Amino acid sequence: KISIFWFRRDLRLEDNHGLFQALSESENVLPLFIFDKNILEKLENKSDARVEFIHDQISKIHQELEKKDSSILIKYGDPEAAYRELLSEYSIQAVYTNRDYEPYAKSRDKKIKSLLADKDIPFHSFKDQLIFEPGEILNGSGEFYKVFTPFSKVWLSKLSPKMLEGYKPMHWKNLYQTSSLNLPTLKEIGFEKSEVTIPSKTADEEVISHYNETRDFPAKNGTSRLGIHLRFGSISIRQLAQKAKELNATYLNELIWREFYMMILAYNPQVVDKAFKPAYDQIPWRNNEEEFAAWCQGMTGYPIVDAGMRELNATGYMHNRVRMVVASFLTKHLLIDWRWGEAYFAAKLLDFELASNNGGWQWAAGTGTDAQPYFRVFNPSSQQEKFDKNWKYIKKWIPEINSDKYPKPIVDHKFARQRAIDTYKSALNQ
Ligand code: FAD
Repeated sequence: KISIFWFRRDLRLEDNHGLFQALSESENVLPLFIFDKNILEKLENKSDARVEFIHDQISKIHQELEKKDSSILIKYGDPEAAYRELLSEYSIQAVYTNRDYEPYAKSRDKKIKSLLADKDIPFHSFKDQLIFEPGEILNGSGEFYKVFTPFSKVWLSKLSPKMLEGYKPMHWKNLYQTSSLNLPTLKEIGFEKSEVTIPSKTADEEVISHYNETRDFPAKNGTSRLGIHLRFGSISIRQLAQKAKELNATYLNELIWREFYMMILAYNPQVVDKAFKPAYDQIPWRNNEEEFAAWCQGMTGYPIVDAGMRELNATGYMHNRVRMVVASFLTKHLLIDWRWGEAYFAAKLLDFELASNNGGWQWAAGTGTDAQPYFRVFNPSSQQEKFDKNWKYIKKWIPEINSDKYPKPIVDHKFARQRAIDTYKSALNQ
């Protein structure tokens, strides 16, 4: 009999809670990864760097396991179908995994759990990707927090050193000893290599130590760029939060935002396509397609907006300050539905995370929990003046900034600001 450890968004061997439990409680643990065709088939870009990244991580895990005379079993397809196959191929004692809180993942896991339950096979899941998972930080009446600050205070007050300890030692001797299983190539799963460089997973202590001073300036190397590693679990949140606690409280606070938005999504799965504040779904978005295209291409004539969009298109990354500016510009200046921008980011961002992306967009559009009030409209020129005074970031992404090839502003700031306020106001007063 074997037990399965199912990797999903926890692509590492060290300090992996579910894997630790599997190896502690059972013998013959066979690691598994399923390339989920439901997700992969939706990706339009066949050289999506995120798929390449996952493939690379799995290859690394595979190589590490080979050194331990074990291997990782790979399936491609619909997870439920993959489990049906596994049930016919192996005699399975139990399945171990780490919890995933997204709506799709929850419904997938429910199906697998019941499929296994029919054969009396337990499905054990563990907390791994968060320090506090949805439901662990609640207010006095047992409800979820709608506002970040009290959430973060309780989060910090409940944090104990033990929670940041790693899971070790791993009982590697309990891995299923099997000869090398075949890892499909990227091509075999329908993808190609991308041109994009993935940021390193080493947390730069210098950067984290000065984070509170440098994080707002897009021309500086002032943020950690660990988003993709947190998204796919190639680093452990416990190790990173421990570093943050030692080095910089502002950085730790950002990790708490990540958990706040995961909690909001878990309690309010409707936010995936609806405003958190329902009244805001009354806003009559203009949704001008040409203007949307200009925004996507970085051709709005607002340098800070255009630099950000060009950075995103070229690298799969955009600095947080600039994400806030471009999102505000799209939703307020252009009155384009936040869902359009959200979907564009989802397709492009290497660190795309449903909860944080949705949270960030709804924050900027004013439709979300604890959001920017609707009458506060970022002025792109003053944002540029404050955060890229010397035009270093702008010149990097818009070399033609001083020539007549660069477009005139797509809309006048004063006019657009007033139009946004009036539109929101009349929609909300209905
Ligand atoms: P750092 O500044 O070094 O922060 C470290 C980590 O903390 C990040 O990697 C991330 O996991 C977390 N974090 C930081 N800021 C936030 C935040 N405001 N909300 C939630 N988590 C945060 N973040 C994503 O991880 N995925 C997204 O898809 C995403 N979409 C966004 C969309 C909009 C419109 C906005 C305004 C923000 C979005 N963010 C998103 C949050 C933030 O911009 C990124 O996490 C950050 O820029 C990633 O860069 P970094 O890894 O250098 O982060």
